Amino acid sequence: MRELPAGCGAIRYVCPVSARWSCLAGIALFYVPFLAWVCLFIALFAWGGAFGLALTLLVAAVIGYAIYFVMILTSQMQHRGVRVTGQDQPELLAVVDKVMQQAGIKRLDGVWLAPEPNAWALAGRRDWLGRRHVGVAIGLLMAAHVSADELTAILAHEAGHLTDPDFLRHSLAARRRSICRKLKFRTSWPLRWYWRWVLKVTREQGVAVERHADAVAVRMCGADLAAQAQHRVAEASCVHAIAMKLLIRPCWERRIAPATFFQAYEAVWNRAPERVEAAVAAWMKAPEKPDDTHPGLAERCGGRSFPLAARLRGDIPLAGLADLDRRFAVSLRWQEARYPMKTMTWAEMKAERASQKAAKNGKAPSEVAT
Ligand SMILES: [Zn+2]
Repeated sequence: MRELPAGCGAIRYVCPVSARWSCLAGIALFYVPFLAWVCLFIALFAWGGAFGLALTLLVAAVIGYAIYFVMILTSQMQHRGVRVTGQDQPELLAVVDKVMQQAGIKRLDGVWLAPEPNAWALAGRRDWLGRRHVGVAIGLLMAAHVSADELTAILAHEAGHLTDPDFLRHSLAARRRSICRKLKFRTSWPLRWYWRWVLKVTREQGVAVERHADAVAVRMCGADLAAQAQHRVAEASCVHAIAMKLLIRPCWERRIAPATFFQAYEAVWNRAPERVEAAVAAWMKAPEKPDDTHPGLAERCGGRSFPLAARLRGDIPLAGLADLDRRFAVSLRWQEARYPMKTMTWAEMKAERASQKAAKNGKAPSEVAT
């Protein structure tokens, strides 16, 4: 693992006043639909002669939110996935501890392995002593794909988020991500138009938080390694997307839930590397869109292209990878396709297909399936 220069996480940063106001305006835009609903609600009650009742309900809602806020303050940080401990994954945790230490983060509330193929900084609320709860989530496929040095650069980027002194732009970026989720899952037509406009006008301030984290990664690990690490994350994301499109979602459509995903990832990597290469190249050339929460991949890779990694598996030993793979296959399935399915291994699916083919050709299933 690469040695990091001491104190490299600290970057002096002074937020320009104009950027501060832009962030505040962007955050305010996020609450406009909610405030419009509240005003409409009060106006309707006032029109019906029950203005006092509307105000009582409003006060009750504010008290309810205050209780909820206090409960959040006292709760531990949680994340979807499997919490990593020093006993389970000593090598992985050694990389995390080293980067966080160098970045000046003294207390990390938790490290989670997650089903998605990238990594996130988890910045929670502050506790009663004013210390912010912070954690890191690492995608299993990404952790399995990268080298220890590349993971160092990826975690340096996440440490850049956790040490970002500009709370306002961090807050704006979180709200932009929330808008993207709203647009993906549920929102009415007029709001859809409004949220798209908000994403457009707040884009530059929104992605500034990622540019800051990228700069921290460059400072901690060097431009070459930081760019290469971004490329590896893109490779893992493309392998996941291709496996989902070609192998996993077609199974879900047939009401079959593959018990594991890594065989599908291996199949994509070994049998169709040109697809992965083309997907990463297309991502490199993709024009930037208002709803991007990150700068373009070309910018993050410093305008450079890298050859694909030699293998799908990197050099970080991950204990219980098969078990984690099974758990995350179930988790992603429930997240994206919530209808009854029959769980099958890839070998069982292959045997079933062979048996159906044999039945079609008039042969005994056992002749083909073995
Ligand atoms: Zn980031």
